[in-house]
Amino acid sequence: MTDKLAAKTDKLAAVKGMNDIMPPDSAQWEWLESKVRGLMGQYAYRSIRTPIVEPTALFVRGTGETTDIVEKEMYSFEDRLNGEQLTLRPENTPGVVRAAIQHNLTYDGGKRLYYMGPMFRHERPQRGRYRQFYQLGAEALGFAGPEVDAELMLLVHALFSDLGLRNVRVELNSLGVPAERQAHRVALIAYFQQHLDLLDAEAQRRLLTNPLRILDTKNPAMQPLVQAAPQLLNYLGDASLKHFDTVKTLLTACAVNWTVNPRLVRGLDYYSHTVFEFVTDELGAQGTLCGGGRYDGLFELLGGKPTPAVGWGMGLERVLELITEQGASLAAPVPDAYAVIPDAASLPRAMHALQALRAAGVSIQMHAGASDGMGSMKSQLKKADASGARYALIFGADELAMGAVAVKSLRAVPAGSDAAPSLDGQPARDSGTQAKRMLNAIETWAHTLQLRP
Ligand code: ATP
Ligand code: MG
Repeated sequence: MTDKLAAKTDKLAAVKGMNDIMPPDSAQWEWLESKVRGLMGQYAYRSIRTPIVEPTALFVRGTGETTDIVEKEMYSFEDRLNGEQLTLRPENTPGVVRAAIQHNLTYDGGKRLYYMGPMFRHERPQRGRYRQFYQLGAEALGFAGPEVDAELMLLVHALFSDLGLRNVRVELNSLGVPAERQAHRVALIAYFQQHLDLLDAEAQRRLLTNPLRILDTKNPAMQPLVQAAPQLLNYLGDASLKHFDTVKTLLTACAVNWTVNPRLVRGLDYYSHTVFEFVTDELGAQGTLCGGGRYDGLFELLGGKPTPAVGWGMGLERVLELITEQGASLAAPVPDAYAVIPDAASLPRAMHALQALRAAGVSIQMHAGASDGMGSMKSQLKKADASGARYALIFGADELAMGAVAVKSLRAVPAGSDAAPSLDGQPARDSGTQAKRMLNAIETWAHTLQLRP
């Protein structure tokens, strides 16, 4: 065991396939997260935070024993302190449903929920595929009607429009109810058995355990076989068809384009009725941005009362990558001002002033010196310039004594920049207003200290 641990002086690196998100990129994540929170509020979805670690049995039962996730992608381990079998969540629908059952969340009616957070899957790391990745998910629990299926897809559509994403298509299918799937399954197995020689090893293995998933194959050689396979849509009864038709009608009424993909089955076991994916061709092989569907049977599978439910999960790395791919960029955040403090003896008064200015809404990066002092004026102004701040606030001892601060403009406002749109379509921060606010804050500060009348 110990020989596998790095020697004390070795450099440590992050686990393969798990990324650090650092400035300036972290600003883009926060921007995306705030967009999501705003939108979820508009649709009256409330956040739920469940643990990252869950009992392994939750995913074996919930996600499904014969899925890729459970067969080969889970980070599972035994807690050596008490012997419990645990797993880092590979997806969060089972966790949300577990929590809903445990706390009887739907006792007084349906609940609309969302979450954002890390998921873990041991996959081969590549573009758009990581071992720790971030998912946004929305789940509507306790609603049986097709209008909530449509609402959930409208939510994704609205988010993508809000983010300025283009060329994302919506694919739909219906998996009906278990009896319909059973009839289709018999036909599907019979069909594949007539063509055993055309099945690849994985398909042969799945033939009797999960034949529906063969339709999901990415093997190009099997496409002709899969294209001609019996379609589940032809096995749906009137009620299932009506549910599916209503979803389609509502999407059309809300100006969302969709196509039916009869081979869309999704990789998880728990779906029924509507399933859907939002797909782009601009991210190579990892083009599925969001996938979801109805999972009316999952509550019972996890020991709860029968409760209809529907939801989706979205990979946030892929969303950010598509934003970049389509040419949008977010300016790195800069402070309004950089505080230059020529003399360390001025620090008590200067730092006190900075507190007041920040409380008044001015963002300020303070110069930090070396152990032997604050450094020359020249080097401080160089740092001020490099910070990107529009102003340097110079806290000279003489000025401070008078309750004054020298304000030096570091960069001219580029022509028209007041109105220049930033990534989120809002006009860039108005620097005229910014300057006024800062000067007001300085006035107030001086006045409060009674340094000036
Ligand atoms: P894929 O077919 O790409 O493996 P999936 O069907 O396994 O996707 P879901 O379980 O439906 O994916 O997860 C929802 C979304 O999460 C996906 O559409 C994708 O955007 C994202 N996602 C899934 N796995 C990863 C991963 N390993 N790294 C980054 N994002 C991922
Ligand atoms: Mg996968």
